[in-house]
This record gives sequence, structure tokens and C-alpha cells, in this order.
Amino acid sequence: MMTEPVKISDAEWEVMRVLWTVKAATAHEIAEILGDKMDWKLATVKTLLGRLSKKEVIRSEAEGKKFIYYPNVSETATVRSATENLFSHICAKKIGVTIADLINEAELTAADIAAINTALLAKTPVASIACNCIPGQCECSQHQVKINH
Ligand SMILES: [Zn+2]
Ligand SMILES: [Zn+2]
Repeated sequence: MMTEPVKISDAEWEVMRVLWTVKAATAHEIAEILGDKMDWKLATVKTLLGRLSKKEVIRSEAEGKKFIYYPNVSETATVRSATENLFSHICAKKIGVTIADLINEAELTAADIAAINTALLAKTPVASIACNCIPGQCECSQHQVKINH
């Protein structure tokens, strides 16, 4: 489990997805897998691996002359952290409608819908949600600011 949210760039996500899938790989192997999709040089992959190592979301072990890279965090935890990070950019009061909107937009199987229904049925509603915004970043009644142009 990650203690604080780690921000992973779009390019870094590409590398993480490979490591989550293959479990262990050298920079060369990752470059080969991503070759067609990303059109990256080996140096690019090595730069991304360096950044991911610094963020401690991957680790490496020397094996002879080469390094083998392994994911240090699970895909589920990382996706959850990215979602929480996204939700931290919107008013707490808007999270519910945002989730409803995401469901509207998503293609879902019967199993997906069943899983969402189960999650909803387990949910205990709260009476109200407090706005966590500052004045001028939210249009709710407590936080309206008048701007005179
Ligand atoms: Zn708000
Ligand atoms: Zn507000």
C-alpha cells in the first residue's frame, strides 16, 4: 500500500503497464514491447525507468551486466491512487455526479454492472457532504465570490 499518492506521467504509465503484465523485464525488453506503440528509443525507456525507480514504484536487481526491473506497487493500488488524485481536483460535493457520469460513459458487461450494483447496495448514504473548496474555486452558496470586472 502506498502512503502518499505518487504521480505517474502518461509515459510512465506505459512502462508500468508492461511491468505489471510481464512482472519482470530489462530496459531492452520493455523498449521492444513498447516499440511499435510508442516509437521510443532505449534511452527514453531508461529515463522513464530511472524516474519510476526514484518514485520507488519499481525496483531493479542487477543480474550480471543487466538490470531486471520489477513493479513495487500493485496495479489496483496505483489506479486507485490516480483516481483519488483526480477526485482531489473537484469539489467533494461533485464526486457523486462525476461517478454517475463515468458510469454513463463507460462500456460495461453484465458482470461489471453487477459489481457496481453490489458496491452501491453496500453503501450507506450520508445526509450531506461538506464542500472542501476555497472561495472562488466553487460555485456553492458559501463560496461564491463577486468579481467586478
Ligand atoms: Zn466545493
Ligand atoms: Zn463551496
